Amino acid sequence: MGGVMQGKKVRCPQCGRFTPWEDNPYRPFCSERCKLIDLGHWLSEEYRLSVPAEGVEEIHKTGEEKGE
Ligand SMILES: [Zn+2]
Repeated sequence: MGGVMQGKKVRCPQCGRFTPWEDNPYRPFCSERCKLIDLGHWLSEEYRLSVPAEGVEEIHKTGEEKGE
């Protein structure tokens, strides 16, 4: 231990690691990866909950065309 405390640290909501708050473009996440994972969860939840039937069909079709 020892050393100077530099700024605030936050806990990454995705992986639970502590990460600096300042100088961190992905805050409150520790990395771009964690941010994208969380965003992905959030988006899929949102779509499932709030997109009307038409929208769901459209998304489904697009997915089939891509073969994903
Ligand atoms: Zn993380």
